[in-house]
Amino acid sequence: MTNPILALARPDILQLQPYQHAAWDPTLERMHANEMPWRATGDNTHAGLNRYPEPQPRTLVERMSQLYGAPAAQVLVGRGSDEAIDLLVRAFCRAGQDNVVITPPTFGFYKVAAKIQGAGVLEVPLLRTGFSLDTEQVIAAGREAKIVFLCSPNNPTGNLLDESAMLRVCGELAGKALVVVDEAYVEFCGRHSLVSQLREFPNLVVLRTLSKAYALAGARLGTVIASEDIIGLLRRIIPPYAIPASTVEEVLMLTEAPQRATAAARIRTLLDERARMVERLERCANVARVYPSDANFLLLECRDSRRFFEAGKAAGLIVRDFSSYPGLAQCLRVSIGTPAQNERLLAAVEHA
Ligand code: PMP
Repeated sequence: MTNPILALARPDILQLQPYQHAAWDPTLERMHANEMPWRATGDNTHAGLNRYPEPQPRTLVERMSQLYGAPAAQVLVGRGSDEAIDLLVRAFCRAGQDNVVITPPTFGFYKVAAKIQGAGVLEVPLLRTGFSLDTEQVIAAGREAKIVFLCSPNNPTGNLLDESAMLRVCGELAGKALVVVDEAYVEFCGRHSLVSQLREFPNLVVLRTLSKAYALAGARLGTVIASEDIIGLLRRIIPPYAIPASTVEEVLMLTEAPQRATAAARIRTLLDERARMVERLERCANVARVYPSDANFLLLECRDSRRFFEAGKAAGLIVRDFSSYPGLAQCLRVSIGTPAQNERLLAAVEHA
């Protein structure tokens, strides 16, 4: 049965005749894609960079399907979750007519992607108490929108959003709006993914990325997990041959069992470091508050954020300044580094 949520997509996208890729048939020698028949000198890749990559490479989609526990038909791979966000907005929002909902302070690209597309942005700020979801207001705004973006754990505040609140938003907006839950940092929180809820909520879309816990930000590989119909729609609009062949090869190699075991061990180290940083930062005179974190970073409220920032910089370290963001006066975000980097930052700011 077709997902009724498809009725929310832009009618012109539903009608679009997608770009026809050169046929993908590795059993035949390629004389159909205007490629050079020879490799560049020194090209040691497996596939050869003279060849266009497979659109939605089957082995890569299968790897992400295993990694995230979703059927391959419900998986789309793109250049980071950034591309996924962009594709969702472009598939569902008509310029000048449709809206997205965001819950600031949150990841900045939801708003930018919406603006690029000409969509409206409805802001429902997180509540001051623990940066939790203002569920009723999100639902009310969602009735006026095509997409609700929720980020859990949230960037830059670091907290998980309440699962039952997110599912309530999905239920209340069934057939009315997509609920996109961005789980970029979920591996750091020890909680399960909302992927398990996709069957129950056909308007739910989950975003995952290899950029954080898997240490592959430079590879640019993000995954959308959603109902088959939504994935089918996004496949129609993702640019041709989106994932570079080198990324495909590297990601397949770097998400094997040994690398996954290393990632798990590094997450444990990072969480120990996070706890140590919280303890030490809380003792700094310049730190008024360290917000609880379920992610690989800490949001700090300083007494003088400029002084903290400059002290870090003088030690050769840069943290992120959020002090000009609404609701985040005097706040900085510190990504947890190696033990040596963390120690250097602590030494620099402890008396600043
Ligand atoms: N979502 C969130 C919440 C993020 O913080 C980021 C990157 N900082 C992204 C998505 C984008 O990640 P990617 O590298 O997969 O594009």
